[in-house]
Amino acid sequence: MADAPLLSARGITRRFGGLAAVNGVSVDLWQGRIQAVIGPNGAGKSTLTNLLSGDLAPSGGTLHLGGREVTGWNAERIARQGLGRSYQKTNIFLPFTVRENVRLAAQAREPQQPWNPLRWWRDTRDAHKNRATRARWERAIELSGLQNRLDAVAGAISHGEQRQLEIAMTLATEPRVLLLDEPLAGMGAAEAERIVALLQRLKAAHAMMLVEHDMDAVFVLADHLTVMVNGEVIAGGAPAAVRANAQVQAAYLGEE
Ligand code: ADP
Ligand code: MG
Repeated sequence: MADAPLLSARGITRRFGGLAAVNGVSVDLWQGRIQAVIGPNGAGKSTLTNLLSGDLAPSGGTLHLGGREVTGWNAERIARQGLGRSYQKTNIFLPFTVRENVRLAAQAREPQQPWNPLRWWRDTRDAHKNRATRARWERAIELSGLQNRLDAVAGAISHGEQRQLEIAMTLATEPRVLLLDEPLAGMGAAEAERIVALLQRLKAAHAMMLVEHDMDAVFVLADHLTVMVNGEVIAGGAPAAVRANAQVQAAYLGEE
């Protein structure tokens, strides 16, 4: 494990009108560790994810990524700095194959190139770029366990495979920090187990934040557990200690 967190948020806040959807939350994400975030609906978990990924600008607080201050950066810049995320609602192009979806995700990472009259130069450069892109998407598919579904149309694969595909698309940009918003939502037990195994495979090489309602998965995967209610962190620590916390039981776990 590195000696500094890959991502560090301090007192991050986001207001929507009078509502503080996320209020003074601090999070550190370390390579090789999974940070789980739980809390009832409306607690601010997705808003927190959006703040860390740059999809939303914070109203207050600071964000550092890979030792660099990135507060207020937009999602594209933050992604280039090494952050990948999944969305609660999927981003997949259903009419395209698994391979095409992951390839598009890998290409989306390529910077926009200005027009250049030196065609030979551009061709050389593109050939190199395509090899790098191909290596990225092939590795993402292998990591995600979808190598047997390459030519399947995304709309025709199972819900669990679609979530695997979404993770593969996230991996195609080779992020060091991964933010996953409810990757097990709507899954049966067997599908959930496959995703849990996938996240375990990804753990060593990534710093991960996992927003998840599936408590069995959280207790299997998480090294650190944060509980949010009404935009604030009410408890955090080792999962077993958090589970035993009476305030957490009353606020959240007791409701399940
Ligand atoms: P969670 O993911 O924990 O269920 P959210 O982060 O989605 O919670 O929402 C936290 C609070 O912020 C909720 O009260 C929600 O209605 C509000 N909220 C989220 N996004 C917006 C938005 N774009 N505009 C206004 N209110 C929002
Ligand atoms: Mg949410």
